[in-house]
Amino acid sequence: MQPLLRISTTHYAQIPIYGSKSALFLDRKSNHLISPLLKPFRLWDNPIKLQDRGSFIRIQFKMQAIQILTTGSADVLTLRDLPTPAAGPGEALIRIEASGVNFIDVYFREGRYPAKLPYTLGQEAAGTVVAVGANVTKIKAGDRVAWCGIPGTYAQLAVAPANRLVQIPDSVSFQQAAGAMLQGMTAHYLAHSTYPIRPGDEVLVHAGSGGVGLLLTQMAKALGAHIFTTVSNEEKAELSRAAGADEVILYTREDFAEKIRKQVPKGLHVVYDSVGKSTFDKSLEVLRPRGTLVLFGGSSGAVPPFDLMRLSALGSLYVTRPTLKDHIATTEDLELRAGAVFNAIAEGMLKVRLEYTYPLVDAAHAHRDLESRKTTGKLLLIP
Ligand code: NDP
Repeated sequence: MQPLLRISTTHYAQIPIYGSKSALFLDRKSNHLISPLLKPFRLWDNPIKLQDRGSFIRIQFKMQAIQILTTGSADVLTLRDLPTPAAGPGEALIRIEASGVNFIDVYFREGRYPAKLPYTLGQEAAGTVVAVGANVTKIKAGDRVAWCGIPGTYAQLAVAPANRLVQIPDSVSFQQAAGAMLQGMTAHYLAHSTYPIRPGDEVLVHAGSGGVGLLLTQMAKALGAHIFTTVSNEEKAELSRAAGADEVILYTREDFAEKIRKQVPKGLHVVYDSVGKSTFDKSLEVLRPRGTLVLFGGSSGAVPPFDLMRLSALGSLYVTRPTLKDHIATTEDLELRAGAVFNAIAEGMLKVRLEYTYPLVDAAHAHRDLESRKTTGKLLLIP
């Protein structure tokens, strides 16, 4: 039997031409591929070049993606037409349904993290597998998958190693999956591995209404913690309380360390700090002896160099600076964490707050919103 569709390594597809009863054929008038089995395939709307080769049509494709050609403000985000990528051995080509917008994308855009230019932003997405390369058995075309940590998701299509893709359960939508991969697995390793929360622990989560903050608060609650959070305004405070925070502090108006010290004179077991520069010193001050400061981000800026002797003076404290990639490095870890997050969503135990969706072309708008501190929960780009 002839293959329905073969995507080559040189960005083209060869489609055998059948009659109208076949599963896939070309409407020569509109130059569109028609298939009763697939929903209209955006990929096919943008052929760069069509070549009629008698028994088959060869089509070269283009896709849209957001790239940076230089680092800088959100203005450097540029919508570009690129040749579609192709799946090599061990890889899959995925049509992206939703791509997560994360702070790490801002760091790459600014040049805080180095990248070879031009660079397609984005490291988190969910979508449908279009084709797989050689030696891929784990997944197949048509599977619903999600992934993170692989650059290039601000795009209509992406290629990813098949062993870094996780299947999305039927009861979890593409948008939920894209919204939960990076931040949900981050919240999971923070609460279960970096500092495993025990019932009764006194915990502080900074930026409690942010993407990670809301998920981490829900997980800490489920583990039995007593939770303090910080947020910058009343509206965010409401969201944080709804996620399970016992005490929400407006750190833009009050001294959070003073307030916590009054309520818990012994100090906290753990502080999860993603704000960094503006909170770090006081985060150390609110810990009990042998308490743990988990610095996992720098939304307000990087923490300056630090004298380790301060840890001894403040009571044999622990400080760690973890990253997600080291907590999902093996396929087992990836599947365990993604599975835990997706199951919790499917069972209604974990709510993903999808705040805004933006068309791909509005990526700069999404970045400005994230940086201007006015967002809560997750931002998604829809290609
Ligand atoms: P958030 O949705 O939490 O957005 C950042 C929040 O930080 C803002 O909404 C704001 O909340 C707070 N904030 C405080 N000061 C500032 C400031 N000066 N500028 C901007 N925001 C500020 O983002 P994410 O959930 O996507 O990510 C949170 C952090 O976690 C990021 O720093 C990110 O890099 C990090 N991260 C780290 C990972 C890791 O493995 N190490 C993985 C994933 C994320 P408010 O207004 O309430 O103060």
